[in-house]
Amino acid sequence: MEAQASLESEIRRLIAVVGPIPVAQYAALCLTHPAHGYYVTRDPLGAAGDFITAPEVSQMFGELIGLWSAAAWKAMGSPENVRLVELGPGRGTLMRDALRALHVTPAFRKALVVHLVEVSPALERVQRETLVNAGAIVQWHRDLSEVPAGPVIIIANEFIDAIPVHQMVKQEDGWHERVVGVTAAGNFTFGVRPEPVPHFERVLPKSVREAPAGSIFEWRPDNLAFEIGRRVRDKGVALMIDYGHTESEVGDTLQAVGQHAFADPLIAPGAVDITAHVDFQAFGAAAESMGAAIYGPIEQGDFLARLGIEARAQALKATALPAKKTEIEAAYARLTQRGRTGMGRLFKVMALADPAIGPPPAFAN
Ligand code: SAH
Repeated sequence: MEAQASLESEIRRLIAVVGPIPVAQYAALCLTHPAHGYYVTRDPLGAAGDFITAPEVSQMFGELIGLWSAAAWKAMGSPENVRLVELGPGRGTLMRDALRALHVTPAFRKALVVHLVEVSPALERVQRETLVNAGAIVQWHRDLSEVPAGPVIIIANEFIDAIPVHQMVKQEDGWHERVVGVTAAGNFTFGVRPEPVPHFERVLPKSVREAPAGSIFEWRPDNLAFEIGRRVRDKGVALMIDYGHTESEVGDTLQAVGQHAFADPLIAPGAVDITAHVDFQAFGAAAESMGAAIYGPIEQGDFLARLGIEARAQALKATALPAKKTEIEAAYARLTQRGRTGMGRLFKVMALADPAIGPPPAFAN
């Protein structure tokens, strides 16, 4: 509560000095402010937290991604040293399950060093606890740029959505940056910069350029995609799993979530998660421009089916007690189903790779 109040007054003071700030800057302060940011101050995951993610739904998710990594490593020519990198590892659950599944591939286990990229000291502590008995060397970094160069496998689940988005609003005279200001009564409020960003439309695909006035277009800086593209283009692969759209399109997808319910992103900064959908087309194009080959995105349901989630669920059920059996069935449905309650369609999976390797597992046609 106190952290939230001080972040709120800090943002208010900033706006008083510099004027309304871009939505992306507001979100960055809310999420990763070094003292009061949402991720910095808590473990937001799980039933008792604010939201639940695929690795927290079931061990099957991390296990299958572990096996995917092993197959990708073989396709890379089984390099003797490889960095298994996870961006935004949350509680470390995906990595724990992946490493456990990898007992079947001892050569890969021996070759890998785990690198976790995590901005949150609170979550880093949870990850250390989760992975203490995982039997692998684990190193932590605040940013991907700190991970040593060389053969690499990069995994990111629900990471890009947490990278702040800029929102642009189309008006008659061009695209204007959407900002957060303060009303006379002292509340945060959305607005737009009076001047359009010069020539912004030049970077847009035609469908977005021709959108009607009032449309919102969201974009993230390309630096993460550039960095991943550069790292994978020579003996590397990456797997990005997130909710979002296959092609760039207009729409306001900024959302705040707290305690498993939608919230207002302008109320209680630092106390709720703020995310937005991933534009896979833009991400892929930026990585491709660095020399990476792009595969997908495909729907999470199809990705998991191709990796054999059904057989894995059957195997787990075969030795489970009845209550646990029901739980496995529910998790399987949640991860793969395409309806409103499932993650199977909204969540998509994109692979990026060294063009010499060919399509990674689950992406060959
Ligand atoms: N991958 C996990 C957690 C997803 S939540 C899962 O699927 O359960 C987002 C994760 O990214 C958290 O670990 C959060 O602390 C981290 N994160 C958010 N912004 C970050 C940034 N800019 N740099 C590094 N890590 C970040």
